[in-house]
Amino acid sequence: MSDQQISENLYVYKDIEGQASLEEVLLSSLEWQSQVKGELSAELPVAWQTVDHNPPNFGYSSSVYWFHLPLLNAAHFGSEWVVEVAYPVLDYVDLYVVKDGDVQSFYKLGDKQPFSNRVFEHRNFRIPVTLSPLDQVDIYIRVKTSSAVQVPVRLWGYGGVMKHDQLDVLILGVYFGLLVVMALYNALIFLTVRQKSNLYYVLYVVSYGLFQASLIGLAYQYIWPSGIHWNDQSILVSLALSLVFGTMFIRSYLDLRLSSPRLELFYRAATWLGLVCIFLSFVLSYDFMIRVMVYSSTIICLGAMAGGLYLWRSIGRSIQYFTLAWLFLFAGGLILALNKFGILPRNLFTENASLYGSAVQVILLSMALVEQINMERKKRFAAQQRAIVQERLAREAQEHALTLQRQDNERLEQRVLERTAELEALNDKLQELTIRDSLTSLYNRRYLDMKAEEEYKRAQRDRNALAVLIMDLDNFKQINDCYGHQFGDACLVATAKVLSDNVQRTSDTVARYGGEEFVAILPGASKEKARYLAEMIRLNIMSLEMMFEGKRVPLSMSIGFVSTKPKEAGRYEELIKLADEALYQAKDEGRNRVIGANES
Ligand code: GH3
Ligand code: MG
Ligand code: MG
Repeated sequence: MSDQQISENLYVYKDIEGQASLEEVLLSSLEWQSQVKGELSAELPVAWQTVDHNPPNFGYSSSVYWFHLPLLNAAHFGSEWVVEVAYPVLDYVDLYVVKDGDVQSFYKLGDKQPFSNRVFEHRNFRIPVTLSPLDQVDIYIRVKTSSAVQVPVRLWGYGGVMKHDQLDVLILGVYFGLLVVMALYNALIFLTVRQKSNLYYVLYVVSYGLFQASLIGLAYQYIWPSGIHWNDQSILVSLALSLVFGTMFIRSYLDLRLSSPRLELFYRAATWLGLVCIFLSFVLSYDFMIRVMVYSSTIICLGAMAGGLYLWRSIGRSIQYFTLAWLFLFAGGLILALNKFGILPRNLFTENASLYGSAVQVILLSMALVEQINMERKKRFAAQQRAIVQERLAREAQEHALTLQRQDNERLEQRVLERTAELEALNDKLQELTIRDSLTSLYNRRYLDMKAEEEYKRAQRDRNALAVLIMDLDNFKQINDCYGHQFGDACLVATAKVLSDNVQRTSDTVARYGGEEFVAILPGASKEKARYLAEMIRLNIMSLEMMFEGKRVPLSMSIGFVSTKPKEAGRYEELIKLADEALYQAKDEGRNRVIGANES
């Protein structure tokens, strides 16, 4: 039957004291029916009323509510029905099947009764009703509860209830499956990333899932079917835990300590409120506690949306998921409430609105978390990229500096090389200067002595001959005196030219020995060869054309020489001495001649 049909045939009676017995209720019901039909005078107090809409909702009340649903089987065949009260948190739900004033069957249901009392193993309260042809029975339902007095009465045929249950179970299975998967998934993310908000998310999803399971009676059916006392409490405790972990999640996710200290304070207070509610739920009444928590949850939900909108632009996509998530949870709750108060029609969507809202919320929050991690990873990646670029720049700068340094070094080396070459050239020149005579450019005496020593030793070693010539210009003092020192110098230069022209072998050395005196050393030259060379020199000197003021000035030279194979113990000065003696002899004998030393 539709809700409309049910509400048209459902009557309610409020027993404020809660003392009325079934007999009294049956009596008053009969009286009221007669009154309605006009059979009775209107003097009696009217305790019964029709129900305006299904489900009837009387809010929180300590009174007992009686409902009367008359059933008439107008058909000529029997039929089986299921009467259901679809609000599983009701504490005490007594169902009576009354026929002609006699109780046919009686069921003590409610979540303060053991689950085993139930005829049908279902989270809602269901009883079977069998109607014979043209049978009339009255269903009386006595409800006493600390929860809101909502009594959605339904009447099902067996086919209808089975069809309904299939979809119902499917929806619940999908919902709780989703919660389990999301919780596991985020638990794994927490284990890898160690982001606290993921942990709070998991705890929030688990507590909220437990709250929903308690609220729709699934927890009682499957988790604690004999936990009568815990059952009502579980709704409060799991809602309080949702409050605690929800606010912790919001604080951690929005990083409120940094982004908004005032909101942080607010949510910290809400977390504490949740913790306190857990303990108070064991002390204070259910209806008070549930109201406190529903109101604070609403404020927290709105607060999260406000915080999300506040940060909407600055943070980006993850905060948008976050904000929408709370909006969906809120919208789901709102639609359910409007449905409960009869403002929205009751259907599969409005009935399950809070499930749908919470499912979307759970998905969106998970997406927000993933997006947040993603954003942080991107940020880290960008920072890494920046560091890499900076490092490369630094390396390039270093390389550049090294290149400059290397170039500098090369330039310096080049300069050193050039300088060294210059110095070497200079040194060579200096060397030349120290071994050459500046006037004639012949070797000087110092060089000759050195060279002569070497050649003497070599001749000793090789048992070779060595010749020494000492040559002296004749009467040179006179030339100087007559024609001047300058002309004398010219004669010396001309003489030197004659000498270097005649002494040409590379091993030979000719030097200016001092004044107008010259010495030649000729390795390997025999006496004959030495004499021959000396004669050549002498003749060449004689034929020099030295002119002074148009007049030829004749020059001549005396030469003493020696050629010998040096003895083992001998010294080269002895050769000089011998050659010198030969020169003296030449001077003595009249000059302009060549004399060999007596020694042979
Ligand atoms: P002799 O035939 O005996 O060798 O007679 P001589 O005049 O050559 O004798 P002596 O060796 O005494 O004279 C050498 C002279 O040579 C003395 C000096 O005036 C001259 N003389 C020495 N060195 C130089 C020089 O570098 N330039 C010039 N123009 N004259 C020099
Ligand atoms: Mg002389
Ligand atoms: Mg002389």
